[in-house]
Amino acid sequence: MEEVDCVIAGAGVVGLAIARALSARGREVLILEGEDAFGTVTSARNSEVIHAGIYYPKDSFMARFCVAGRRELYAYLQERGIAHRNCGKLIVATSDAEVDQLAAIKGRAEANGVEGMRVLSAEEARAMEPALACKGAVLSQTTGISDSHAYMLALLGDAEAQGATLACRAPVVGGRIGDEGIELQIGGADPMSLRARLFINAAGLQAPALARSLTGMPADHVPGTWWAKGNYFTLTGRSPFSRLIYPVPVPGGLGTHLTLDLAGQARFGPDVEWIERIDYEVNPRRGDSFYAAIRRYWPDLPDDALQPAYSGIRPKIVPPGAPAQDFVIQGEAMHGVRGLVNLFGIESPGLTASLAIAEHVAGLAA
Ligand SMILES: Cc1cc2nc3c(=O)[nH]c(=O)nc-3n(C[C@H](O)[C@H](O)[C@H](O)COP(=O)(O)OP(=O)(O)OC[C@H]3O[C@@H](n4cnc5c(N)ncnc54)[C@H](O)[C@@H]3O)c2cc1C
Repeated sequence: MEEVDCVIAGAGVVGLAIARALSARGREVLILEGEDAFGTVTSARNSEVIHAGIYYPKDSFMARFCVAGRRELYAYLQERGIAHRNCGKLIVATSDAEVDQLAAIKGRAEANGVEGMRVLSAEEARAMEPALACKGAVLSQTTGISDSHAYMLALLGDAEAQGATLACRAPVVGGRIGDEGIELQIGGADPMSLRARLFINAAGLQAPALARSLTGMPADHVPGTWWAKGNYFTLTGRSPFSRLIYPVPVPGGLGTHLTLDLAGQARFGPDVEWIERIDYEVNPRRGDSFYAAIRRYWPDLPDDALQPAYSGIRPKIVPPGAPAQDFVIQGEAMHGVRGLVNLFGIESPGLTASLAIAEHVAGLAA
């Protein structure tokens, strides 16, 4: 059986960042991707926001990897000349009760090491964004937006320059954990088997199913699978805002927020729709509830200004109503299997955190 040093299942932003980190350490890396091309699943269906690291519990993977990953990401995008904009974000309070929460939001962010947070009066916020209606706000100066496809292309380019190989239409369909490594069955047009000394499961939405398909993987270490679709609606016409605008978060979600793409196009969302099967269609009716939520901070939103756009699916590992779950990154110390790293629940801020996640995984694999 053919032997490979490191096999990564999944060429999303996380698998690609890991391929770059491992190949930089001189490891032989083969990336197996089930789809026709890299980065076509969740990594192509998100807000492309470079998150500051504000809301995550202190010392969680999400907090640590978002803050560290964000700093590394800005430096990388800058160095590679990849389009991005450090546009900043306003978290806006539209009631007195929400104003009372602003200092706590800033404090929580600062506990995570987030720099550049400032509480603003309503007048200060409106001086920055005249279309805004609010009673106060927090400015997050380090939040930004990026060209995530160009970023993934650069990661792949680095990995390939360091000797890594990407094979598309090559899904890992099962495997067996053995003494000599992990034997993998690869499907697609040219099915084959190979043995990996190190196998990284970065299969996103399919990561729990892939882990379950490995004979010898302790079942009690594989989380359940739930999927939460996030639907986006674009604003027809010009955006009146030049920063990202988020309401004060509500329990269980970030509220109906506005993000911008690099061309300045505004979109609202993502909302949360729990689904049983993968389906990216956006139901236009879901936009109806957006209007009232948006008009709390932008009263001049015209009628019929929102158009269904696209959706992405969050790879949840806890059911609806459960407390938010941190990233789960399992090496041998957690599941007892030599040469296997599983990444589960890599939802937002996985794009921002990708370089830091990759460093962590490379450390586990050392
Ligand atoms: C709606 C939404 C908005 C988001 N917004 C942001 C944001 O603004 N900023 C941010 O930082 N993060 C954001 N995120 C999170 C971010 O998009 C993800 O964390 C990140 O894209 C995850 O990358 P990944 O490589 O783990 O997964 P994916 O991109 O899903 O890649 C996994 C890959 O594995 C492949 N695969 C699956 N099964 C197999 C198999 N058996 N064999 C081989 N290949 C396989 C898939 O085809 C896929 O290409 C958002 C997520 C969602 C859902």
